[in-house]
Amino acid sequence: MVRVRYAPSPTGMPHVGNIRTALFNWVFARRHGGQFIVRIEDTDRARFVEGSEQAILHSLCWLGLDWDEGPEVGGPYAPYYQSQRLEIYQRIAHQLVEEGKAYKCFCTPEELEQMRAQQRAQGAAATMYDRRCRKLTPAEVKAREDAGLPYVIRFKMPLEGTVEYDDLIHGRTVFQNKLTDDFVMLKSDGFPTYHLANVVDDHLMEVTHVMRGDEWVASMPRHLNLYKALGWEPPQFAHLPLLLGPDRQKLSKRHGAVEFTDFIRQGYLPEAMFNFLAICGWNPGDDREILSREEIIQLFAIERISDNPFVFHHDKLLWMNGYYIRQLPKERLVELCLPYLQEAGLVPQTLDEATRAYVERVVPLEQEKMKLLSDAPRLLDFFFKDDYPIDEAAVRKWYGEPHIPQMLEELIRRYEALEPFTAPEIERVTREVIAWLGVKGGEVIHPTRVALSGRTTGPSLFEMIEALGKPRVLQRLRKAQGWVFGR
Ligand code: GLU
Repeated sequence: MVRVRYAPSPTGMPHVGNIRTALFNWVFARRHGGQFIVRIEDTDRARFVEGSEQAILHSLCWLGLDWDEGPEVGGPYAPYYQSQRLEIYQRIAHQLVEEGKAYKCFCTPEELEQMRAQQRAQGAAATMYDRRCRKLTPAEVKAREDAGLPYVIRFKMPLEGTVEYDDLIHGRTVFQNKLTDDFVMLKSDGFPTYHLANVVDDHLMEVTHVMRGDEWVASMPRHLNLYKALGWEPPQFAHLPLLLGPDRQKLSKRHGAVEFTDFIRQGYLPEAMFNFLAICGWNPGDDREILSREEIIQLFAIERISDNPFVFHHDKLLWMNGYYIRQLPKERLVELCLPYLQEAGLVPQTLDEATRAYVERVVPLEQEKMKLLSDAPRLLDFFFKDDYPIDEAAVRKWYGEPHIPQMLEELIRRYEALEPFTAPEIERVTREVIAWLGVKGGEVIHPTRVALSGRTTGPSLFEMIEALGKPRVLQRLRKAQGWVFGR
């Protein structure tokens, strides 16, 4: 039975790379009919960020990554918050001390700082705990304890030899034990460090595969030695390649949005994010990029996760989102765009029937052009208000042309009399005007579009005119008569 976990720390807003880790775990669990666990690693109280846990869980829900065990749903290995499991870690840390595999360290922060400063002065590239408390005699330890000195519990790393494992992505990986110091397992306030809590919980929760970011490879010598000391069989490990920006630096704000909730806010669709994140470092075995959730689950295999860092291209994600927006049924597109239109003040919070019908009418006209749901206000503003931006260059280009005054007059006259005011009828009379003026189609269509929407591109002109409705169209054409200038 496959059991995987996503183990976020509520120490900041979720990064898109973290959510990709969650997604790979979820897909792997679903692929093998296994279980996906969410465990909140909230033991670093100093770095706790208010609201981050909610943002993480919301991001998972939004993507449809449902968990079988974890916050809210509980499960047989509860609690799933590490802050509620302190006794377990304390018990195990003290057990290791009794077995001589760990020891109490009474060094004060000042002593440690002094030690590090000295090591740096001697030219050490990286500082390392010098294991001074490892040498304390039982009597010395007792004296310090009796004096009530605070202590941490450190793990006794083997002083020599190697430790190794087969990474499912990177293959055989070997570490020299002597390069890792006697790390802290339990802090003086009784809270465990990440290393202890993570290993203990992966074991107790019977996790079979640990899939996490490459930044955790460096922790492997600690974790593997901890498993050995506890006499536990380690799970299998798969360390996911990092996400990079196009300049091959670690993906960060400089490259665009990286916080997952920003993607949600900007109006990416869950199906587009799901698809895109799945192919961030994984491929289905061919060069297909558009894949449904079901296809991804069916095809997913750790063997096809690349061991190279993956370059994250925002423009590709944007393209993919546009693709998924174009596939949306019109009703869903309208529902999804509505909050953006409301937030921009283009549509009231409560819609009367006529406004709703109008929204349902005009939103789909921009479906082809939309890449983000948040594009909706910019693309659609002229449908809802009269003070939309006007492309001045387009006005200068067209409104000095000699046929424009007559064009406007004829369009106004014919549109005013037109019944029914429907796209085919509008097209018919507009073509009559073109023929009557003896000009090319574009010489009427472009300036008319500028008059009605302020811009030179947009949805099909005749559809747009029908949707705007006769009164608005006439009023805007009359206003455009004021733009005419002589050359
Ligand atoms: N709490 C760690 C994190 O925030 C989990 C790392 C792991 O999956 O082992 O990324």
